[in-house]
Amino acid sequence: MEFYKNQIVTVVIEHMGNDGEGIGKIDGYTLFIKDAVAGDRVQAKIIKAKKNYGFARLMNIEEPSRYRVEPPCAFARQCGGCQLQALSYSQQLKYKEEKVRNNLEHIGGLREIPMEPVIGMEEPFHYRNKAQFPIGMDRDGHIITGFYASRSHTIIPNRECLLGVSQNEEILDILIAHMEKYHIAPYDEINGKGLVRHVLLRYGFHTGEIMVCLILNGSRLPGAEKLADRLFSMEGMTSFMINVNKKRDNVILGDRTMLIRGKTYITDYIKDLKFCISPASFFQVNPHQTGKMYEKALEYAALTGEETVWDLYCGIGTISLFLARAAKKVYGVEVIPQAIEDARENARLNHLDNVEFFVGKAEEIFPDKAKRERVHADVIVVDPPRKGCGWELLDAILHVMPPKVVYVSCDSATLARDVKYLAEGGYEVVKVCPFDNFAMTVHVETIVLLSRR
Ligand code: SAH
Repeated sequence: MEFYKNQIVTVVIEHMGNDGEGIGKIDGYTLFIKDAVAGDRVQAKIIKAKKNYGFARLMNIEEPSRYRVEPPCAFARQCGGCQLQALSYSQQLKYKEEKVRNNLEHIGGLREIPMEPVIGMEEPFHYRNKAQFPIGMDRDGHIITGFYASRSHTIIPNRECLLGVSQNEEILDILIAHMEKYHIAPYDEINGKGLVRHVLLRYGFHTGEIMVCLILNGSRLPGAEKLADRLFSMEGMTSFMINVNKKRDNVILGDRTMLIRGKTYITDYIKDLKFCISPASFFQVNPHQTGKMYEKALEYAALTGEETVWDLYCGIGTISLFLARAAKKVYGVEVIPQAIEDARENARLNHLDNVEFFVGKAEEIFPDKAKRERVHADVIVVDPPRKGCGWELLDAILHVMPPKVVYVSCDSATLARDVKYLAEGGYEVVKVCPFDNFAMTVHVETIVLLSRR
């Protein structure tokens, strides 16, 4: 059978790919269909036909999957934020468990993977403690805010994201009204003109503290004090800051941040530890899952109080401090200087003095120390961004050869690649536990315990 562009076909969706797309076959020809769910029989229009596979657009659901649910958000299909809202939550958890297993098998070359059941959420909405809304203008000249459409920078107006907290909407209303009143132009990516680019919102789930940080293509906001008055009439408002970003790229935050009113950070708890969080610092976005995840990391590390631990990619020292209470000494490494300042403050705040932090790239600092200072480590924890650890770092870990490595990952493909490298270098995978920290999206967090053979 020949397949061609604009052809309408009927397909049964067999499974779902890494980006949440439905995958089905007709006579051995594979079709990838966004928004289709495993178990659906759908009518779809081919938009790109290659020799052995193609991409199609979902036109009509002829027979819905038993796992299909009505997405609670009206923008679920357009928005690039959620990919799995049409899939029942229990099936989302299965999908993520399979994703981790598949990557560890196919990329990691592992067999008989010691997987623990995925740790899911009780209430999989309104869990994010951080939101970044782009500000723009629609065709009629109205200031809008919302979310980028899937794979684009077109803003879909929506102030009420179901993953975020309800306070976000009121803050956005206040901000847009202020911009209208003072005739402040939103930033325009095409020509680099206009002032307001993004607004970054943080909320401390356990403290109720709120941070508003405006990202400006400039350093002065007209009527800033008036806006501060209005924002600080909200309960919990703790920090109002401006971040300056005049660069013409996609990175949201610039290098310079100025305080307008309140504090330069908010605080929040993970379990009984307290943390200061600055605008530029990384902080786990799902407060309901973070504590469970760190407890698992602690369980895998199985500390007795005698150990030296390295926490690489430590952010504001959250895992470091969790482990410090059960270890002799913890060293943390993190590339963002502000995050390390937070980390040192957090150690003081929690009266932990057996931790030491270094600013720099983990793949430079750790190999350098391993080479020059004969580093000792009983446990190394790594928690890299999506691109995973660099080879230089993995080689240094294999040089130091601690009895245990605890790998915390937000991308199971790079996790699998790195685990393979460590396995070939003398480690074995003892346990794997996926966590659903990003419900409704295709992303999954995973912790792996590796032990020296
Ligand atoms: N373990 C922390 C942070 C994990 S997120 C937590 O659970 O909160 C990953 C962190 O790695 C971020 O703070 C990011 O700023 C940092 N990072 C990114 N690239 C890095 C690099 N090359 N070296 C060190 N840290 C890096």
